[in-house]
Amino acid sequence: MKKTALVCGAGGFIGSHLVKRLKKDGYWVRGVDLKFPEFSPTAADEFLILDLREQPNCERVVRTAEGRPFDEVYQLAADMGGMGFIQAAECEIMRNSALINIHMTNAAAPAGVKRYLFSSSACVYRNMKPDEPELSEAEAYPALPDNEYGWEKLYAERMAMAYGRRFGMVVRIARFQNTYGPEGTWQGGREKAPAAFCRKVAETPDGGEIEAWGDGKAMRAYTYIDDLLDGIIRLMHSDLEDGVNIGRQEYVSVDELARTVAEVAGKHIRIKHVSGPVGVDARNFRNDRIASLGWTSKISLKEGISRTYPWIRAQVEAKKK
Ligand code: NAD
Repeated sequence: MKKTALVCGAGGFIGSHLVKRLKKDGYWVRGVDLKFPEFSPTAADEFLILDLREQPNCERVVRTAEGRPFDEVYQLAADMGGMGFIQAAECEIMRNSALINIHMTNAAAPAGVKRYLFSSSACVYRNMKPDEPELSEAEAYPALPDNEYGWEKLYAERMAMAYGRRFGMVVRIARFQNTYGPEGTWQGGREKAPAAFCRKVAETPDGGEIEAWGDGKAMRAYTYIDDLLDGIIRLMHSDLEDGVNIGRQEYVSVDELARTVAEVAGKHIRIKHVSGPVGVDARNFRNDRIASLGWTSKISLKEGISRTYPWIRAQVEAKKK
């Protein structure tokens, strides 16, 4: 019998890619979301449009049509966006994402789901200064996330782990770094920095100017979607408890990210710094827990942008028509 996997948030960026990966790995997959994937048809065997803030919907989705609990649940549904959205929609994030996580764990664990992966975030960590030594996963405590999105993630991590302990459900906590790739949100206010710069550069003629929020010095690392998926799958099937960072350790400034996009596009672009929500000054994380599973990031920032920029440029061109 095929293994069964439930992907919550399967209409979103990472969820829709994860469904494809699980199908390739031979699973029977159910996707759930408020919406279908925006850019290509879902690869799921079954796709339910449901609001996971509602407990009865969560209870419904964690069992197959035959009434068996799913072997694996990947909980990626969240009210989610880049830094602009995270700062503007803090009440929505605190309410909507918490409700999803409270009801999903409270449905999955008692139903007998065997393995449950929660998509947490690097936003659970405190602000850092550039060149500070790497933080380990345990150093998320004492907790001081920079934004409410991070606080919600920490609470949801703990909620999942508590239910795992009570009901004997294996819980895996993946703390994703900023992830990007084709078929991610690229406009509308929820897009993250790599997609936003790809869009701005695609819209700007050679020799033109784009805007970047802040002074351009904030340091980040960006993980290409395929690398992240590989980490998710390894972590789900591992025996690693508690939070596990998944992210490429190639740290660049915001300006360097913008310059990488311009270079890939083959354009000379000037960067104009304007005030806007930036988030933390820097990030720098240890990766030895995920590396202990044989994971390593294979796709450099330049390579990942080379795969992402043409897709976003095509979206920009299509919108003009
Ligand atoms: P996304 O916004 O593309 O996907 C989230 C999906 O959840 C969306 O399709 C949305 O419709 C769905 N959703 C929201 N509310 C729902 C509800 N009430 N019921 C059902 N579905 C609902 O975001 P993503 O980038 O794919 O992120 C997936 C997960 O990974 C999220 O939990 C996010 O917080 C986490 N994460 C992402 C990144 C990143 O860089 N993309 C970084 C850290 C953590």
